[in-house]
Amino acid sequence: MEQHAQGPIGDRTQAIESSLDQLRSRIARSAVESGRTAEDIQLVCVSKGQEDPALRAALLAGERIFGENRVQEAARKWPALKTEFGPVELHLIGPLQTNKLREALALFDVIETLDRPRLAEALAREFRAGSRQPKLFIEVNTGREPQKAGILPEDADAFITFCRSDCGLEIEGLMCIPPADQQASPHFALLSQIAARNIIASLSMGMSADYELGIQLGATHVRVGSAIFGTRTQV
Ligand SMILES: *Cc1c(COP(=O)(O)O)cnc(C)c1O
Repeated sequence: MEQHAQGPIGDRTQAIESSLDQLRSRIARSAVESGRTAEDIQLVCVSKGQEDPALRAALLAGERIFGENRVQEAARKWPALKTEFGPVELHLIGPLQTNKLREALALFDVIETLDRPRLAEALAREFRAGSRQPKLFIEVNTGREPQKAGILPEDADAFITFCRSDCGLEIEGLMCIPPADQQASPHFALLSQIAARNIIASLSMGMSADYELGIQLGATHVRVGSAIFGTRTQV
């Protein structure tokens, strides 16, 4: 059968392209409104739950930074695409179990979910042993939600010092996922304060519903999934 450009895959590709266009211009506008430029904000396309045609559409539209929440899923999806499209910056945005650490270090360029002393120690050990060294963001549980990963805000300063001084790790940024049922702005403001007083350069905050707010409050990275790819069937 002949394949038509306007089949379901063509439609999906166009939808992703136009979502990305709209997203990029809104990011640029928010950046300018907060005294920065579009280049100061990194769009992390959250591709968890998305498969090849959708990933390809985003790659063809020029995106090169992607976020995945599961090591295994990323390992299945990305190596072939990296070979085909060239360098892609992969961010791990889901919890990292130490038994997946080596696989994660081989695959990811940024780990946004450093959230406990034992993981910091394990990372330091692997780095000393000569592993690849992804950039590290510490996840802060700004909403103090028991079911969520992340360092509690009151423990953040001590944990940052532990990572730097005891483990010799460079901390590139902080990340948070505010409670779904609350205003995000106090959480973003809190994360931004923790970063400022610890001289941390990058802030990963803001998702589909609130990336503009994230940028207004100082985000350098926004993690956007459904506003690009549509609603997920799987979380
Ligand atoms: C899924 C997810 C996102 C993206 O959420 P959307 O609302 O689809 O934009 C961002 N960050 C993390 C940590 C996620 O798990």
